[in-house]
Amino acid sequence: MKIRKNDTVLVIAGKDKGKKGKVRFAYPKDGRLLVEGVNFIKRHSRAARGARQAGIIELEEPIDVTSVMLLCSRCNHPARVGFRFLEDGRKVRFCRSCGEVID
Ligand SMILES: [Zn+2]
Repeated sequence: MKIRKNDTVLVIAGKDKGKKGKVRFAYPKDGRLLVEGVNFIKRHSRAARGARQAGIIELEEPIDVTSVMLLCSRCNHPARVGFRFLEDGRKVRFCRSCGEVID
């Protein structure tokens, strides 16, 4: 995947379009990301014995990786990400607008 945990992303589709957030978890198999503060879903919860109250809780749900773009930390633009090989053979991501290596 082009986006990984701890990346900062911009949401480009869906109800949270325009929001920015940090990727908390990545699920490469499903092509989904859990992004901080994005895609809250309301859930009704029953009172668990002891601690939690019954009522509505809001939870973040993973969103599709195609709904976000990586924000480049250097040029601060939503970056189209490319891959490139370094001299030591490592494969790294880079921002196609400013050329900065992201990894
Ligand atoms: Zn950039």
